[in-house]
Amino acid sequence: CGVFGVRAPEQPVSHITYLGLYALQHRGQESAGMAVSEGTKIWVNKDMGLVSTVFDHHRLEALRGHLAIGHTRYSTTGASAWQNAQPSYRTAQEVQFALAHNGNLVNTPELAQELGLAPGTVGSDSDLVAEHLIAELAAPDALGDADPLERALARVLPRLRGAFSFVIMDEDRLIGVRDPNGFRPLFLGQLPQGWVLASETPALDVVGAKVVREVEPGEMVVIDASGVRSVRPFPSATINPTLCSFEFVYFARPDGVLRGQGVHGARKRMGMQLAVQAPVDADLVVPVPESGIPGAQGFAQQSGIPYGDGWIKNRYIGRTFIAPTQELRDNAVRIKLNPIIENVAGQRLVVVEDSIIRATTLRGTMRMLREAGATAIHLRICSPPYRWPCFYGMDTGDRSTLIAANLDVDAIRDYLGVDSLVYLELDRMLGAISDEPNDFCTACMTGDYPVPVSVNTTKDMLE
Ligand code: SF4
Repeated sequence: CGVFGVRAPEQPVSHITYLGLYALQHRGQESAGMAVSEGTKIWVNKDMGLVSTVFDHHRLEALRGHLAIGHTRYSTTGASAWQNAQPSYRTAQEVQFALAHNGNLVNTPELAQELGLAPGTVGSDSDLVAEHLIAELAAPDALGDADPLERALARVLPRLRGAFSFVIMDEDRLIGVRDPNGFRPLFLGQLPQGWVLASETPALDVVGAKVVREVEPGEMVVIDASGVRSVRPFPSATINPTLCSFEFVYFARPDGVLRGQGVHGARKRMGMQLAVQAPVDADLVVPVPESGIPGAQGFAQQSGIPYGDGWIKNRYIGRTFIAPTQELRDNAVRIKLNPIIENVAGQRLVVVEDSIIRATTLRGTMRMLREAGATAIHLRICSPPYRWPCFYGMDTGDRSTLIAANLDVDAIRDYLGVDSLVYLELDRMLGAISDEPNDFCTACMTGDYPVPVSVNTTKDMLE
């Protein structure tokens, strides 16, 4: 998911949020929403679909205020349905708040039980957090507290386990929270007349905000009329920075910066490392569009093999398209990608991709190259085999759907129908990302989960 927040008096905050969400569209395409406050009341507008579908000029004009948060959703737990679209809005004991979440909690059954709720009765883990906040706001000893919302957050946040970057608002305050591991990114930016929070730096760039810094793992920032205040609601012993390394491989925009490193540069270095680790005699390096582009550039630069395009990607296609029969579905792969025969016929190709999760699409893509006349296909992957499910906000399904959990590399090579297949070694991948390679989550590649979770857990069990 993508989250965004802005507090900027006398600025068109709904339009700013719209632009920010547009820049975060790649983090979630299922639903989009925003909550806006003019000082006394919070208004929420959300719906299924892309940011550009959900909001038009009239809707944005109607959402006036000085403070807003927004969300683009990609479901990890909770169905892809309207009632799970965010922000979640609640009111209790004269306090109103809205909340948007990027990540995935791993202790939802316990949290539901604490509230006396039966499993499956709460729509998503984000709603569960909102319900816990309400319970704290309604607690007898909360009455008369000078700041009941911050007090409720201080009580609820340390009970959450897993991945969460939140943006939260009441009528006048914008709050950002990052879990003690900092699995998902969250940035603080500054406008000439206000402050911005966003999942990734390109969302700050598009609204003209200066990147100030990352919200730190285990930090809560509170933004109000007097500026930005940093709060530490989590016990210091729980702070253990493990940013998702797959943000660098796949998830984040290449024009962004994470942990001070440009994502495009990191992906390019992964490709360079692949060329060092697994050199091959070939005529042309081609990326799987568009995810493999920086890696292929790095491979070509390091190896001296020319770089070229193997396919043309249709830019107007959404994430899904309708094809009623299997035959049409097979052909429909070509709606998205179609090979450039003059570039690939008679050529020995190095094909670079960022990762392989399920391999079904990639198989069709490789077959297209053969049909277009490629004489050899050497597939190079910019990350190690993805063998373990992610419970921290990337929905890759359970182990039965992950090809590398079920087949070894030779069998995957045969399944894909390529001449050779090499995955980048973990040390090389982490070295391409950072000088501090221990500070990352690598659980989907190593099975080493920084926040304990049973690998037999399925997505349904977290709902
Ligand atoms: Fe990222 Fe993989 Fe860790 Fe999930 S398991 S947070 S995708 S590195």
